[in-house]
Amino acid sequence: MQTMAKPCKAKTKNGKRCGGYAVAGSDFCFTHDPARARERAAARKRGGMAQAIPKVAGEWTKKIESIGDLIELLNLVILDTWQQENTAARSRALLAAIDTGAKCLTAGEFEARLAALETILKNREVKP
Ligand SMILES: [Zn+2]
Repeated sequence: MQTMAKPCKAKTKNGKRCGGYAVAGSDFCFTHDPARARERAAARKRGGMAQAIPKVAGEWTKKIESIGDLIELLNLVILDTWQQENTAARSRALLAAIDTGAKCLTAGEFEARLAALETILKNREVKP
């Protein structure tokens, strides 16, 4: 047996009949059913939250020229990512940021130690 979907009885703003189909137990589609107003509002809110673009923690206009610049940018990215919805993708992004941060800090430490060694070697150079 084939069941026929019942058309929605509502009229649109321009007076035409709604092209939707009535939901079970109603004469109206989900959009026009007065009994579902609260459900629609909740769905809109969920949709709005899903679409919302998180606020940006700051603007980045610098050219990256040092490890300090990289760490500064990384901190902005972490702040922005932190504000996003808690999802598996956000967790992965934060873990990648932590990994990148650890590499930046290690590179910065090596850079400082190398500079110290270069200074020591330069001071030991024999002058003619
Ligand atoms: Zn309708």
